[in-house]
Amino acid sequence: MQKYRIWVLLTVGLAACQPAAPGVPETSGAGVADLLILNGRVFAADEAGTTAEAVAVRGNTILRVGSNAELSALRGPDTRVVDARGGAVLPGFNDAHVHFVSGGFALADVDLAGLTTLREVQAAISRFAADHPGDGWLRGRGWLYQPFPGSSPTRAQLDEIVRDRPAVMECYDGHSIWVNSLALARAGITKDTPNPPNGEIVKDPKTGEPTGHLKESAAALVEKIMPEPTEADRRAALKAAVAHANRLGVTSIQNAGTSLEEMALYEAAKRDGDLTVRAYLAFSASSATTAADADRMVETWQRLGDDPTLRTGIVKMYADGVIESRTAAMLAPFERGASAGAPNLTTEELNRVVAMLDARGLQVQIHAIGDRAIRMSLDALEEAARVNPAPARGRRHRLEHIEAIAEADIARFGQLGVIASQQPMHVALGDMNQASPAGPWPDNIGPERWSRAWAWQRIRADGGRLAFGSDWPVATLEAGQGIWLASTRVTLPGGTAQAMSMADAVRGYTSWAAYASFDDQRKGTLAPGMLADIVVLASDVFAQPPQKPTDVVVGATVFDGRVVYQRQ
Ligand SMILES: [Zn+2]
Repeated sequence: MQKYRIWVLLTVGLAACQPAAPGVPETSGAGVADLLILNGRVFAADEAGTTAEAVAVRGNTILRVGSNAELSALRGPDTRVVDARGGAVLPGFNDAHVHFVSGGFALADVDLAGLTTLREVQAAISRFAADHPGDGWLRGRGWLYQPFPGSSPTRAQLDEIVRDRPAVMECYDGHSIWVNSLALARAGITKDTPNPPNGEIVKDPKTGEPTGHLKESAAALVEKIMPEPTEADRRAALKAAVAHANRLGVTSIQNAGTSLEEMALYEAAKRDGDLTVRAYLAFSASSATTAADADRMVETWQRLGDDPTLRTGIVKMYADGVIESRTAAMLAPFERGASAGAPNLTTEELNRVVAMLDARGLQVQIHAIGDRAIRMSLDALEEAARVNPAPARGRRHRLEHIEAIAEADIARFGQLGVIASQQPMHVALGDMNQASPAGPWPDNIGPERWSRAWAWQRIRADGGRLAFGSDWPVATLEAGQGIWLASTRVTLPGGTAQAMSMADAVRGYTSWAAYASFDDQRKGTLAPGMLADIVVLASDVFAQPPQKPTDVVVGATVFDGRVVYQRQ
């Protein structure tokens, strides 16, 4: 890629030295842009804070960034012009943490996101069931804990509206499901079914009967009997996800855990020309991962190569669960209880797998939410750096989420060079839960630990690097909403202000995210030679900061030099 680009520049340079052929207009040569974005509030998202009015694109890279007057001179007869009308022009959004194909499937399921009362939740499911009649599985996702007494939904609440077909509704956090009686019966789950490892079948304390709430790995007891999506279903889900991303200005995604089957899906989409987002795909690892598994990951990594549109070289692990369902691993017990949760792996297992992956030059990303899981993960990364020589490309290991961190671990991100990959809209989910007396996030953790919730500004102040994402479909894929939240976030208990500048909020979804996937030399900033992935917003978010989450509206999306979305 780099070599090719240099060759093109050399050829163009030579051509430019030749006298223009008679009759050929001056502009038809090397300097002509294929695409011009004019009248914008261009923010390059570099560390210098470069601003401009216009961007010129040629082929799939940025030709120049400058003033309207300068760049208008690059206009030729076939140049496409996008008038930004004063809107912000930014590098295309790069979502550093998604579950992309799941998101594509979720677009076709009952959407329970943001519903705060049981009545609303039940009405949404009833309406969807009526619109999609049949006796097949009814799927939905996105429920919050607050509509349910005790933060635990019951099968009776679902049976009231869906009795004659199995129904399964996934929690917004992806860590538990809510099913009706028919689904439990089909899965053969009774009061005698034991909890699987790292999972819980919630049971009625009086009768011992399963309530319909299945946490963590217990969800698999139902999921494994659900009909498998066909190859065509999966292709359609990926295609729907790509179109959704382009509408939202997202031109790069980093998929946090990808099966080999899913990887083949992306390869097929790329061959068919349907992959208009750049995908960085993480493998999955656990305590069961062997050296042979790691070698196979390296083989796939090498086979895909350094293709800027489809790459791997990263591995996702889970150190713990989530705070809402008390499955996060904490250093001290949750409020109102003796349990502090438990990590998914022992220290020895985590250290072994992390060192094994690090020794092969693979990037490691660890889901770590509770302060104990965060500490264990930082320890494992520190240990790997101690026992292994540094890989040729350096280390850019990451922790994902980092919701409740111990004071002593904040500075370690900067010290160890570990990236804090965080999802601003998770804070909104937490705050929403806080509105309810039964809100599990703040209730489970208490004000002292809550004061260090999603402490991105403190991690950064201590020299740590950040990358932002959505965790879609856990939260919306709209980077604009994350930017609104990161730039307006209110003060936490204890008085720590966590709001960041608009410029930094944008960097979190662009240049910083590109660094987190080893892509900062070719995308994430607007500069000559960088890949032409660009988003044009409908307004200037720097002059008029968004007041509510939906204020950041995408006007146009450019991927690889082509306009893939334009708002009507
Ligand atoms: Zn995730």
